[in-house]
Amino acid sequence: MAFLVKKYGGTSVGTIERIQHVAGSLKEAHEAGDQIVVVVSAMSGETNRLVGLAREVQPAVVDVRELDVLLATGEQVTIALLTMALKELGVEACSYTGAQIKILTDDSHSKARIISIDTDRIMDDINAGKIVVVAGFQGVDEKGNITTLGRGGSDTSAVALGAALKCDECQIFTDVDGVYTTDPRVESRARRLERITFEEMLEMASLGSKVLQIRAVEFAGKYNVPLRVLSSFKPGEGTLITYDDEENSMEQALVSGIAFNRDEAQVTVTGVADQPGTAFAILGPISDLNIEVDMIIQNIGADETTDFTFTVHRDEYSRVIDFLQSRQKELGAASITGNDRIAKLSIVGVGMRSHAGIASRMFRSLSDSGINMRLITTSEIKISVVIDEKYLELGVRALHEEFELAAP
Ligand code: ADP
Ligand code: ASP
Ligand code: MG
Repeated sequence: MAFLVKKYGGTSVGTIERIQHVAGSLKEAHEAGDQIVVVVSAMSGETNRLVGLAREVQPAVVDVRELDVLLATGEQVTIALLTMALKELGVEACSYTGAQIKILTDDSHSKARIISIDTDRIMDDINAGKIVVVAGFQGVDEKGNITTLGRGGSDTSAVALGAALKCDECQIFTDVDGVYTTDPRVESRARRLERITFEEMLEMASLGSKVLQIRAVEFAGKYNVPLRVLSSFKPGEGTLITYDDEENSMEQALVSGIAFNRDEAQVTVTGVADQPGTAFAILGPISDLNIEVDMIIQNIGADETTDFTFTVHRDEYSRVIDFLQSRQKELGAASITGNDRIAKLSIVGVGMRSHAGIASRMFRSLSDSGINMRLITTSEIKISVVIDEKYLELGVRALHEEFELAAP
């Protein structure tokens, strides 16, 4: 018998049959004695459909408050349907929206952060033998406005509930049976990892592996919530996200996984003065526009000028280019250019800390495949390169092979 938070993603509740299938699995676990809080996403495609409707009405600037009101309806549909399906199977259950159980967040619409959760009502139901079904991805701010947690946010709802309820395990059920060495949709020989450390998972998530939302991993690490990724469709152990203890590090690979991201665009400012204040003059106003900058690379100066390259989200690309071009004179830049058909490819592994030569293996492997690297950044446990988007799949497979990540 265990106290479990189980989260089911969009594909897992994408049809009535699948909702009934989830209800069947929950009934089994409940009958075996587990106490269960379920978190569900909207049915697959629903959040995108709602975003599309909003864009039709407000093509230019979307009202973020109203968008959150709209998007939160997706999850409200699935909690009701799943609870009905459970009741049809004779299981006592009750559904709650984020507001009903006071998932209190800050007021940053569309990317709100959870502050606290009122667990009393949930615990009353659990103690009465019910399954509690909670809408993922949503909360409510201090003033009672509905908020959402960002795309993929139901993962974070589940982990936050797991932390607040001190559950034995938070289980993320999805359409793959665990965390793989890379996205199995791109490399069919990708291998499921039995374990991955929080640190590595956090890097993988932030470098583009959308199997878990970054904040969910952060939260689980911070509050020590045991976290597991599993399949909704086939039984198995899934992947456990763990701390890097000695027992685990025995079997540590140099590189644990490959992540990639096609969401970025590159912007280059050439011929700016090589003097204090230049980086700030370029990036300060970008930050004031509320645009996040990811990689930043400044070249060594020559002839008292230097070149400066950074990446932003692809959606912000034209805004950034237009803005910088309008200020080109002021910046004293020779040119402002960019490319929005790039991709970031990264290798991640705690084993990199203690082994040299991994970067050169990565670079040689990409060069053998004829792939040019435009930008390179490294940190203790990851190396990222920016390449042309059209070579991304080729690059992922080459590195998967180079670091022997495929199943034996
Ligand atoms: P859900 O709707 O259940 O939240 P997501 O689509 O958000 O599911 O996440 C699951 C998807 O993540 C998989 O279908 C897979 O294509 C993708 N993915 C990306 N990187 C990985 C990885 N390293 N391991 C497993 N899945 C990955
Ligand atoms: N429904 C939301 C989304 O599609 C939240 C989630 O699925 O986690 O992003
Ligand atoms: Mg997801």
